[in-house]
Amino acid sequence: QKYVYRFSEGDKDQKELLGGKGANLAEMTNLGLPVPPGFTISTDACRAYLADGKVPKQVRVQTTVALREVEEAVGRNFGDAEEPLLVSVRSGAKFSMPGMMETVLNVGLNDETVEGLARLADDERFAWDSYRRLIQMFGRTVLDIPGEPFSEALDARKEERGVSNDVELDAEDWRAVVDAYKKVVVEHTGEDFPQDPRQQLDLAIEAVFRSWNTERARLYRRRERIPHSLGTAVNVVSMVFGNMGDTSGTGVCFTRDPSTGHTGVYGDYLQNAQGEDVVAGIRNTLSLEELKDIDGKSYRELRRIMRRLETHYRDLCDIEFTIERGKLWMLQTRVGKRTAAAAFRIACQLDDEGLIDTDEALTRVTGSQLSQLLFPQFDPHAERQLLAKGLGASPGAAVGGIVFDNAQAEEEKAKGNDVILVRRETSPEDLPGMVASRGVLTSRGGKTSHAAVVARGMGMCAVVGAEAIAVKDGEIRVGDTVLHRGDVIAIDGSTGEVFVGEVPVVDSPVMTYIADGLDAALEAAKGDDDTLELVEAVDRLLGHADDVRRLRVRANADTGEDAARARKHGAEGVGLCRTEHQFLGDRRVQIERVVLADGAEQREKALAELLPLQKQDFRELLEAMDGLPTTIRLIDPPLHEFLPDLTDLSVTVALAEERGEPDEHDVELLTAVRRMHEQNPMLGLRGVRLGLRLPGLFALQIRAIAEATVELRGEGKDPQPEIMVPLIGSQRELQLVRDEAEKLLAEIAEETGEELDLAIGCMIELPRAALTAARIAEEADFFSFGTNDLTQTTWGFSRDDVEGAFFATYLDNGVLTISPFETLDADGVGQLVEAGVKGGRSTKKKLKMGVCGEHGGDPESIHFFHRAGLDYVSCSPFRVPVARLEAGRATV
Ligand code: ADP
Ligand code: MG
Ligand code: MG
Repeated sequence: QKYVYRFSEGDKDQKELLGGKGANLAEMTNLGLPVPPGFTISTDACRAYLADGKVPKQVRVQTTVALREVEEAVGRNFGDAEEPLLVSVRSGAKFSMPGMMETVLNVGLNDETVEGLARLADDERFAWDSYRRLIQMFGRTVLDIPGEPFSEALDARKEERGVSNDVELDAEDWRAVVDAYKKVVVEHTGEDFPQDPRQQLDLAIEAVFRSWNTERARLYRRRERIPHSLGTAVNVVSMVFGNMGDTSGTGVCFTRDPSTGHTGVYGDYLQNAQGEDVVAGIRNTLSLEELKDIDGKSYRELRRIMRRLETHYRDLCDIEFTIERGKLWMLQTRVGKRTAAAAFRIACQLDDEGLIDTDEALTRVTGSQLSQLLFPQFDPHAERQLLAKGLGASPGAAVGGIVFDNAQAEEEKAKGNDVILVRRETSPEDLPGMVASRGVLTSRGGKTSHAAVVARGMGMCAVVGAEAIAVKDGEIRVGDTVLHRGDVIAIDGSTGEVFVGEVPVVDSPVMTYIADGLDAALEAAKGDDDTLELVEAVDRLLGHADDVRRLRVRANADTGEDAARARKHGAEGVGLCRTEHQFLGDRRVQIERVVLADGAEQREKALAELLPLQKQDFRELLEAMDGLPTTIRLIDPPLHEFLPDLTDLSVTVALAEERGEPDEHDVELLTAVRRMHEQNPMLGLRGVRLGLRLPGLFALQIRAIAEATVELRGEGKDPQPEIMVPLIGSQRELQLVRDEAEKLLAEIAEETGEELDLAIGCMIELPRAALTAARIAEEADFFSFGTNDLTQTTWGFSRDDVEGAFFATYLDNGVLTISPFETLDADGVGQLVEAGVKGGRSTKKKLKMGVCGEHGGDPESIHFFHRAGLDYVSCSPFRVPVARLEAGRATV
């Protein structure tokens, strides 16, 4: 089996096999760019190592051969006392995992070759500096020695010599440091630092493989949803030296500004330095611009290569380079990370420059980037005082007084005060406090902690793991700053920043664009070129998505007001109107009367009172969505939601009896509530079951829809209602509802002289409905997949109970990679959706199908629905732009 690949054998598309770093080193080599000779040991080798616990023999053999070729190319030999070849051993997985795995530089140095290197470079200081770096990196990475004893030894030497900076140490000093470091190795491992270069190399390779499975690497992958099975590659690269005096140096650069996208010279350079000195911040770096004056020739060559890489990768690249005595070497490149705003700008810039077309530009941005741009933000011009920084766990900007527990949160909320719940960490008991707060801040925990998961689910702003903050005894402390209950703080759930005091919150420019249109957004952004460019970029890419997408995007809206807002955001109809919301509040008593009615006459009277109210609801909704399909779901939730709480009522009745003045109505009510009490209302008398059990309820709603339609038509409008029956599990259920509905519609048509063939369809939200969809379709004009309930009933999860209780655990231990209520579980629930689509279309080829669960606004799920062949998705009005963009991306 082939495990080792020369750089000339690979290319940028082989990230799976060679890792990102190796694939791109190969690509640059084949472009003819100056890459030091080297080779890559594949991820196959890593997987073999992880399976067997030892490096396959073939790896050693093939490494020997490849190393010989490198020796030839460089003209020096590994381990040679006179002209030693040195190499770096660098990890590199398919996805970059910054800071997670390790690199060892200067492998091949020992007591003998260090002298050779000194003669070769005519620089003793440089050679011994390189040697001490090897011992330190090797010690930490391969031998697991902590960093402190090394830095202590170095500090001791500096102190002895009365200097504060590494560059002030001379060759003698570095010799002394090398001796000290060797002692550290012996003290910690009981063995000498290995002098055999080949042994160094083999141990370093194995250490890189091993580093794949360190605790922090596993944790990182879980968080980023990177599979543990990938493994890392190892790159062995001949060393070039940035630490050979002032004509040498090392640097990093970007082909464009990763925060704005502007082209220009972005980068840092450090003279007389090696490897990670640049990012480590040991010394102040120079800007790339300054390299022009230091070494114009290398600078110009670098600029040429930057342009070359950008046209080749057709994207922003980030680059690591080293200059060795005036000669430029390329050590790494990759398509660079960027902010959400930069992603939109850069995609359009590249489109304008002709490097990519608009289809491809659309693939370069994501719905989650767009949604980041839609969250309210702190006024960028406002002053602010940073208190601490944690992890941005759930985006948004929230301002409020500090509270520490549920009681405080609810008390302040009742007074109309905005609050932020601050805790060391949260648990399911803290849910009421979270609900009452604008945002949540914790000093412990990561992005999958309870607070983070729950906040994301609720769409509330959260900052977690702000470790600088001590939360104790009703106060928080950061250094000398002490804050108490009621003191105002502001938290930014995107950046993780926490500020003291009020910071004004404003609509983002992109939100202004979505809500008020391009002209309004451009007007508001006047004078700020970056914002103007951003708004135009979003307009272009969203417009393109609208042009190319097949999926229509509707919104879930219960009122005329919601529908109007959704329409502004680009919704092409209502996919779900939840009518039960119209029965809560003031009207609950009326529904209560329907439920408790004694005989048909009483019930009809109660229903008749509701009719004008319902009609008005639907008039407003249909008017706001005039001309667009509007799916109205008949009443769905469990009965008890419309009745008083059993415990509360029992107490009221008991107290009244104790006082000797029982209330007859209450007593009767209590009997009824007891009778109708359900152990598990979610699976009880609800949806179509209630409609069939309690005649008249559906009829009332259907009549209200029909009459509202007739009225609007009379006013010259074009209402497009669709009647949807919830919780269907069998064909017969729908047939019964349909027969009644058609009779009723015919009656109303007769009364009004209007033709009324309204579409009647159903939700597919029970596994049985999905499995018997072919038969159900005989009675349905359309299907709408209710993926929330379908997820609950497929997994047997009660959403309200499980999310706070154990999802954090399930995410930690890998049972779930993401909440199935957030992203559709394609493997499980997805199969039922596919079965439903297949069944439905087998009966009616053109049956219209959509989805109305929250998944309709989730990027990954939208791609699934596109592939599954649905006609539309429906989501909350706020997610409509995201859904439009993703529906477009799904087609290109
Ligand atoms: P990371 O993935 O953490 O950036 P790298 O493998 O890129 O790790 O290496 C760390 C540092 O060492 C980088 O600055 C890189 O440019 C430098 N480096 C790696 N290999 C060599 C080499 N052969 N010669 C000189 N510098 C190198
Ligand atoms: Mg690197
Ligand atoms: Mg449902």
